[in-house]
This record gives sequence, C-alpha cells and structure tokens, in this order.
Amino acid sequence: MKKKVLITGATGRTGLLVVKKLQIENNDWQVIPFAKSPTKAEEIFTSTENFIFGNILSFEDLTIATQGCDTLIILTSAVPKMISPPFEGKPPEFDFEDRGKPEEVDWIGQKNQIDAAKQAGIKHIILVGSMGGTNDNHPLNRLGNGNILIWKRKAEEYLINSGIDYTIIHAGGLLDKPDGKRELLVGKNDEFLTNPPNNIPTSIPRGDVANVVIEALDNPFAKNKVFDLISKPESENNTLITYDWNNFFQQIT
Ligand code: NAP
Repeated sequence: MKKKVLITGATGRTGLLVVKKLQIENNDWQVIPFAKSPTKAEEIFTSTENFIFGNILSFEDLTIATQGCDTLIILTSAVPKMISPPFEGKPPEFDFEDRGKPEEVDWIGQKNQIDAAKQAGIKHIILVGSMGGTNDNHPLNRLGNGNILIWKRKAEEYLINSGIDYTIIHAGGLLDKPDGKRELLVGKNDEFLTNPPNNIPTSIPRGDVANVVIEALDNPFAKNKVFDLISKPESENNTLITYDWNNFFQQIT
C-alpha cells in the first residue's frame, strides 16, 4: 500500500509545484493536497481528485485531512497584500486579509496542523519557512505590523518540541525561475544574510525548494534537521544539476 502525504498550501506557488511534481514523478506516495479554495484548485490543476478542502484555522478540517496520513508537508503562509504603492519616497504599505494575519495563519494555523498530525499518528512533518527569523527587527516583520517571521519561528519551535520527526527548510527569497539549474547551498542561523557567499543574491527558485521537499520525504538523513536554503545563480552552460541527496542531507548538522 502506498504511503499518504498531506500537502497544505497546495494552491500556493510552491505548494502547487510540490503537488504536481509528486503526482507526475513519484509513485511511492499517495498525494493528498489540502487547499482553501476549490475554485482556485480547479484553475490550477486538471483534476482535484483526492483534494481535501478546508481551512487550517479549523482543527476539525485538519482532523479529517490528516486521517491515515504518514507525512505532512506544510506550505501554508500568511500573504501580505500591498494596500498602497510606494509614493514620493514613501515605502509601500501592506496589510493582511481578515483571518489571514501571521498570528492566525503562521502560528495558530501551523500549530493546528502539528496538533492534528500528532493526533493522527503522522511520523514526519516537512515545513517550509523563511530565512530571517533570527532577527526580530527583520523588515518582513514590519509588513502590516504582522511579525510574520516571529510567528513562523514560534510554530517551528512548537514542531521541534512536538516529538514528531521534522525537516524545517528556511528558504531564501523565492523566485519563479526554472529549477534544477542552480547549485544549492545550505546554511544555518541566517549566516547567508549576514555574509552571502561571493555576495550572491540570497534567493532560490520555488521549484528547487519543491525538489528538496520531495527528496526529504524518503531520505532518513533529512529527519530532525533545520537549515537555510539558497541557490547560486543559474549556470551559464544550462546543464541540469544532479545531487547525491544522501550527501546533501548528511552535510546538514
Ligand atoms: P504562497 O504562494 O504565499 O502560498 C501560501 C498558501 O497558504 C496559499 O496556498 C494559501 O491559500 C494558503 N493558506 C493561507 N491561509 C490559509 C488558511 N487559513 N487555510 C488554508 N490554506 C491557507 O507561498 P509561497 O510564496 O510559495 O511560499 C512558501 C513558503 O515559503 C511560505 O512559508 C513563505 O513564507 C516561505 N518563503 C517565502 C519567500 C518569498 O520570497 N515569498 C521567501 C522565503 C520563504 P490560497 O492559495 O487559497 O491563497
């Protein structure tokens, strides 16, 4: 029997890549995408078979969704919306939707997911978060006064203390660029932000993050690891980069 993986944030920009890649490339896992909006899911996917629709603010929705699952991939996030563009030297202003603030989505919503996973006997949670969490004064925390990185880190601590195996990926700035064409770099504690290697941008294509998430599903060396993830700029000879994933995850201490 196939193992079951629940993927939340399935209609998000990284979540949809994880779902599509797993549906196409990986036959070992039964994929259960979890999303808020059936309409959005129907626009993105050719079929919404096996989808579960619900809200991570509802523990009941998550109790249903996690039933019988072996692994949970958390790709939900509060999404800041620009409410006024930059004007005459003033920076843009952001806010969050009702019931969409970081305290709700990134703390209560993630805690709900971890609690529901624990109740369902899920053995491994893979969570995509963000670099920058070591600095409470990070500019992202000021967006809509949401303290988004602070709430995300609080949920990560909750996961680490939950007793469930975890893989926590702190991604750099996410790019909608082709994956597989850049060398991946792993780091710790925001060291790339204070000291980027060769001053490269601290970013990574969403597809490369999705690939690491998928490799973490089956790799024993990915368990109980927290790491920062960025990529080098795209190689000029356009070759696809392949990885020894055991080495990749083993190097992370
Ligand atoms: P995204 O497109 O913003 O997707 C977020 C997902 O969360 C969406 O699918 C959204 O649903 C879902 N969601 C929000 N509230 C929900 C709720 N109450 N119930 C159910 N689902 C809910 O994500 P992304 O930009 O690919 O980012 C993935 C992760 O990487 C996030 O944790 C993000 O913070 C992190 N990250 C982002 C950046 C960056 O540059 N943007 C950099 C580093 C790390 P809908 O689809 O219905 O809106």
